[in-house]
Amino acid sequence: MAQKEYKELSCRDTGADCDFLVRAETAEEAISVASEHGCRIHNVCEITPEARDRMYSLTRSVWCGGEFVDIQEAGPNTLQEEWMEN
Ligand SMILES: [Zn+2]
Repeated sequence: MAQKEYKELSCRDTGADCDFLVRAETAEEAISVASEHGCRIHNVCEITPEARDRMYSLTRSVWCGGEFVDIQEAGPNTLQEEWMEN
């Protein structure tokens, strides 16, 4: 029924040629997952305050309704994480 706000951050937005996308309930969570991804996939393990600020500014709000019901029911901290490796 009610739509829920999620924060979305994609790797492509940061300039990487990568289809990773994370959607979380807060920007902090999205950035945390994106940081892990950056370390694991791109070998960028050191997140400077500047990089964090940049990721924060790239995080956008998305509103999701019915299609995310299953995820909401799975738990408040459930993250959706997708990426493709070439
Ligand atoms: Zn990536």
